[in-house]
Parts: sequence; C-alpha cells; structure tokens
Amino acid sequence: MEKDRIFLSPPHMGNEEAENVSEAFESNWISTQGPFINKFEKNLAKYCNRKSACVVQSGTAAIHLAIRVMGISEGDTVLCQSFTFIGSCNPVVYEKANLIFVDSEYETWNMCPNSLRRALVDCKKQKIIPKAIIVVHLYGMPAKMDQILSVAKQYKVPVIEDAAEALGSKLNNKPCGSFGRFSILSFNGNKIITTSGGGALMSNNKDEIEEANFLSTQAKESKAFYEHKKIGYNYKLSNILASIGVAQLKGLNERVLKRRKNYLFYYNLLKKVKGITFLDEPEGYFSNRWLTCILVDKKITNISVEEIISEFADENIETRRLWKPMHMQPIFKKNIFYGKGVSNFLFENGICLPSGSNINDEDKKRIKRILTKIFSIT
Ligand SMILES: *Cc1c(COP(=O)(O)O)cnc(C)c1O
Repeated sequence: MEKDRIFLSPPHMGNEEAENVSEAFESNWISTQGPFINKFEKNLAKYCNRKSACVVQSGTAAIHLAIRVMGISEGDTVLCQSFTFIGSCNPVVYEKANLIFVDSEYETWNMCPNSLRRALVDCKKQKIIPKAIIVVHLYGMPAKMDQILSVAKQYKVPVIEDAAEALGSKLNNKPCGSFGRFSILSFNGNKIITTSGGGALMSNNKDEIEEANFLSTQAKESKAFYEHKKIGYNYKLSNILASIGVAQLKGLNERVLKRRKNYLFYYNLLKKVKGITFLDEPEGYFSNRWLTCILVDKKITNISVEEIISEFADENIETRRLWKPMHMQPIFKKNIFYGKGVSNFLFENGICLPSGSNINDEDKKRIKRILTKIFSIT
C-alpha cells in the first residue's frame, strides 16, 4: 500500500476557518471589501506592532506595492539579500530598477551587515544612493536587524523587511514585521499561516498604507465615475480569504510552538551525528522555526544532500534544498554581488526537513526511521 505523502509545510486548517468562510458567504461580502478584511488588517498590525496594514493577494504583491509607494523606478538601485526566494526581489525588476545582491552570514543565514556596508560604501563612491534595502528573515530566523538598521541609517537608505517566513518570530522581544520602514508577510499555502494565497504590507505610516491600498484596487479616484491618475493593480485580498486569515492568525502562537517542537525533534535525534549542523538561535533571537533546516558535511556523513532527498522521496516524504541564492540564478548572472559565498555554501550543503505544524507521531516515526538509517544512528 502506498503510504500517505508527508509534505514539507502543508496548510493547517481548523474549524473556525470553515465557520468564518460560511459567515462571509452568508453576509455576501465575497469580494475585496468586507468586515473580515478590516479585522485581518487590524489584527495583523496589532500582532506586529504596526500602525497599519493592507492585505493583498500575495507577499510578492505586497513588496511590489512597497516599491511603488517608495517611488522606486527605472534606473534606481535596490540592495537585496541574495539568499532568499525570488518573490523578495522580482517586484524591483517589474519597476526596471537595478538589483545588487548581498551575501549572508553564518549566524542567522541572513544579510551580512559587513557585506551590506561594503556595498553601500561602493555605491557612495559611485554617487549612487540606493532607494531601498530588502532584508529577509529566512526560515523564520530574524536577521541581524540592529546592525543592519544602523548601517542603513548611516547611509540613509530605507529598509523593506521581508517577513514572509517569519510571522511569530521575535528579536529581543520585538516581533518580526515591526522593523523596516515597510514590512511584508505572505500567506501562501506553505507559510506558517495561510489564506490559500495572500500577503500583507505593513508600516507605521498610515498615509503610505492608504496609498498602497489605493494602488491595490486599480487606483480609482474617489469620484462618481471611474477616473485614474495613476496605474494601479488588482491586488486586494478578498473578504473570503481574509476570513480564513483571521482564524489562522488566532492559532498562530500554537503553530509556532508546534514548529519549534519539530525543530527539537530533529535536533534531539541528530545532535550527536557528526557532520550535521543546525541553525541555533543566538541570544535574544526567537525563531518561529517555519522550516527546520540542517547542513550536511558530506565528507563526514558520507551522504550527499541529493541522496538524502532521494531517500525521503522513496518513502513519499517531501524534503528540499535550501533557497538557491539570487546571485547564482541564471536570470541575475549580470547583477553585482557583495559577499564571500556564504549563501553559496548554505545552498550547496543544506536541506529543509518536513516541518508542518500538523505532522503527527506516525509521520515522525517514518521520518525517524529514515534518518536513523541514513545516518546510522544507534
Ligand atoms: C513566500 C515568500 C515570498 C513571496 O510570497 P508569495 O505570497 O508567495 O508571493 C517572498 N519572500 C520570501 C522570503 C518568501 O518565502
């Protein structure tokens, strides 16, 4: 008999999500206005210590709106963490601005403040003032925001905080999503909470979020007829999907605990295996452990990342390589990169293990059996 597939990070729905969808149906607020949209925006802003939020159809759309509201356009320069998912930086390309990529450091796997400084020094020499720095909290681990924000401030460049993977994470007790001039979230199906697809843009500047909201609904001027002075988008999240988000956000803290337990499960199982390293939390860092990732030193373990993935695949279990850095992508081969190849190393040696908040004991048994076998755990 074929065993059920264990996914890397599947959606985790509850009863309240279904009840909210029914309520949205019954009220007939089906589209891009309605009480759940307002509630979801209010609750997200509150959770992330923000004054204001605008919910949209994806995290990528949220970044695009930030780029537009900041007035970033053709010929401008934007610095972006190289080690990320392409959604972080695609909107910069939509607006024909130039991307410069910045490497990671080993402690959090996120943007290296020193590489960032080198990039900013060079920009200054060339009389370029970058319009934004896009920082990511990858796999839920907060980036070194204190250092990054201080370098950014010194060079007067605003930060866009990509917290797509880090809702529920904290740095020195401050929530991820509260740091940048703008921050964004994603509610894609594989994220810690989901609305099937969705995202949010947040800021402490209500006017700018209002402008983003305006752009997300086709930039319709408030007139009795359709008048447009700007080009907008059809990006707004529907009330139906926001109703799912409201219920998901309620369960977030519990989901974070489950994912952190997954991390401990792997950690306790593998900590004695030579050649495997985990991403520990530095002091003051609290990760939502969206995905548990390990680095595998093949010279010691005698098994490569590809072989591990294929061992899991044979048992119908999904695992994945870490994100392939943007500076290694064929589409960005001409872009400038600052760094020493830390992200190259992480990509080449890392693997993401099944991390859903709904993995059960049976799933863990199957996973444990494979890990025990491939790493000869006694
Ligand atoms: C998922 C993700 C995004 C994009 O979110 P979508 O909702 O899929 O558009 C952006 N950045 C990072 C780091 C992500 O993981």
